[in-house]
Amino acid sequence: MNLELSEEQEAARQLAKDFVAREIAPHVVEWDRAENVDRSIVKKLGSLGFLGLTVPEEYGGSGGDHLAYCLVTEELGRGDSSVRGIVSVSLGLVTKTIATWGDEKQKQQWLPRLTAGEAIGCFGLTEPGTGSDAGNLTTKAVRDGDSYVINGTKMFITNGTWADVVLLFARTNDTPGHKGISAFLVPTDTPGLTRRTIHGKLGLRGQATAEVVLEDVRVPATTLLGPEGKGFSIAMSALAKGRMSVAAGCVGIAQAALDAAVGYAGEREQFGKPIAGYQLVQELISDIAVDVDAARLLTWRVADLIDRGEDFATAASKAKLFASEAAVRAASNALQVFGGYGYIDEYPVGKLLRDARVMTLYEGTSQIQKLIIGRALTGVSAF
Ligand SMILES: Cc1cc2nc3c(=O)[nH]c(=O)nc-3n(C[C@H](O)[C@H](O)[C@H](O)COP(=O)(O)OP(=O)(O)OC[C@H]3O[C@@H](n4cnc5c(N)ncnc54)[C@H](O)[C@@H]3O)c2cc1C
Repeated sequence: MNLELSEEQEAARQLAKDFVAREIAPHVVEWDRAENVDRSIVKKLGSLGFLGLTVPEEYGGSGGDHLAYCLVTEELGRGDSSVRGIVSVSLGLVTKTIATWGDEKQKQQWLPRLTAGEAIGCFGLTEPGTGSDAGNLTTKAVRDGDSYVINGTKMFITNGTWADVVLLFARTNDTPGHKGISAFLVPTDTPGLTRRTIHGKLGLRGQATAEVVLEDVRVPATTLLGPEGKGFSIAMSALAKGRMSVAAGCVGIAQAALDAAVGYAGEREQFGKPIAGYQLVQELISDIAVDVDAARLLTWRVADLIDRGEDFATAASKAKLFASEAAVRAASNALQVFGGYGYIDEYPVGKLLRDARVMTLYEGTSQIQKLIIGRALTGVSAF
């Protein structure tokens, strides 16, 4: 396997690196403290093509392969996971799903605006009572003539208060479990849809996370995405690719932790010499470095499998499981290198740890990834 990047891939990575240095790094602390990323970042992401990666150019996409997508996602994650998550959800979970499952009218309606950053998407699967057990969700969509009437509540929805469209999963018949679930593209200005910002998150503070409530929300039947009853498969296929994106973001966190730890260890002196000279500090740094490499290679493998049209779902679960746990370890090790200074937010590593912590929880917890990998190996489902 050739691990050398092509010119296009290198160019995409450099573009993202420059963007992070110019548009994100100067604001990271301020956005984190204010619990608010400046929303103008979305249009800037769109204008550079970061919200259209892998999407066909005829719908406003910027093309590129999944490795380029990983490289950009890693750089954004290195800069600020709150910004990285905006892209992973709007592009990775919503735009790409519409590109795969949408009819021509749905593609024309949403893709050019989403890829340009003129609209934002959110992914409405989790509910207050069903997280890991998403197949038992209770939001209902009842057919009424040419419409569906939707009632239910979605929880922890990334981009929730910013989004123009929710890729919403709701039950369209009483078949228990995942077979009765369908997917809809619900414009967020539809009467009856309300949103509440969730404050007080440990990390990803700059990101708009919301509870989305649907009360008698009437949408035309044309908002159904894919066939009725296929919603759970649509959600799971979106999440399988999404896990690669989370993993790439985690590589970015771990790389940022490594850069910060190496830089600080070279400058900070104790007992009359830089702490970088102490073997126990070198151990912390080398542990981070190995985590970065291993997580990156697992993530690149997923991109390679997708681009070659091979099965990638189990590899994506492995990458997401390892990279998310590695990001937490890496950020924690970096914080240890910083000593007490790591514990205050004038230094970068505390935020890295807070942001990393959710990565083992969303888009399938670490336990759920292990069950998916175990099912693939044994042929027996634990769900
Ligand atoms: C910041 C943030 C952003 C999010 N963004 C989105 C979003 O955009 N869209 C969306 O739909 N959701 C989103 N989520 C929701 C996220 O995907 C869920 O939180 C996650 O799926 C876990 O569900 P839960 O929180 O209900 O935990 P639970 O499912 O209640 O799990 C609790 C614990 O039980 C364990 N557990 C559960 N079932 C099993 C089992 N069978 N075997 C072993 N252990 C098990 C879990 O691993 C976990 O440790 C977000 C969450 C957060 C915190």
